[in-house]
Amino acid sequence: MARRRRIYEGKAKVLFEGPEPGTIVQYFKDDATAFNAQKKGVISGKGVLNNRISEYIMLKLGEIGIATHFVRRLNMREQLVHEVEIIPIEVVVRNIAAGSISKRLGIEEGTPLPRSIVEFYYKSDALEDPMVSEEHITAFGWANPQDIDDIIALALRVNDFLSGLFLGVGIRLVDFKLEFGRWYDDQDNMRIVVADEVTPDSCRLWDIKTNEKLDKDRFRRDMGGVEEAYQEVARRLGILPEAGPQDLKGTKSIN
Ligand code: UDP
Repeated sequence: MARRRRIYEGKAKVLFEGPEPGTIVQYFKDDATAFNAQKKGVISGKGVLNNRISEYIMLKLGEIGIATHFVRRLNMREQLVHEVEIIPIEVVVRNIAAGSISKRLGIEEGTPLPRSIVEFYYKSDALEDPMVSEEHITAFGWANPQDIDDIIALALRVNDFLSGLFLGVGIRLVDFKLEFGRWYDDQDNMRIVVADEVTPDSCRLWDIKTNEKLDKDRFRRDMGGVEEAYQEVARRLGILPEAGPQDLKGTKSIN
């Protein structure tokens, strides 16, 4: 295959120029980072599973009328997406206290929150993604008040839908992170769409009966069984690669 232009390499994905204008290829790596990339490692087969899991979730969101950047999966580790202008905000939705909210507000992990809480973080590795308010977002022009209203409404719809989807396979959606992008159609109409990925890298997923963690916290907290946890999520969603775990390594070539 002809060498493609690499646009960007992130912590867990590489972005390449897509085959048609306005498209991008997302390549999912096995690399994992935590604590603002201070902790680095490899979760064998993660890229293959995350490619499938994110495809599955983006397609499901599309089915209920939530626009996403997803176009189609290309192969084991790659998917085609619309090129969007990423809004530089990480949107976190929480249902149960865990991670940073537990630490910051002294709420014991596992405590159900009085209602779903939406938080914003400014995307900046150099600043370690600081938490920001709507005031900061509008004052610095990262998004306008209408965009923020749309983003909150979308984030809460995604939360309700995914909570039900995971509940159906015995998993509690504790919290998750979304990114949004501005997508311009041929007539130059702008639409805010769900972008990036939705995977166990960006969600906290706990087994409903045992509270066993089925997400990246196993890597962050050196709990072991990381590969198995990602496989378990894929298995429960009914999307383990056909040929089974031997398929998980996939191709190493990312040219
Ligand atoms: N999250 C993420 N990327 C980030 C920060 C957080 O995907 O850069 C996800 C994380 O996996 C969790 C949720 O957002 O599902 C809330 O994370 P939290 O603020 O508790 O931070 P953490 O404890 O992961 O540092």
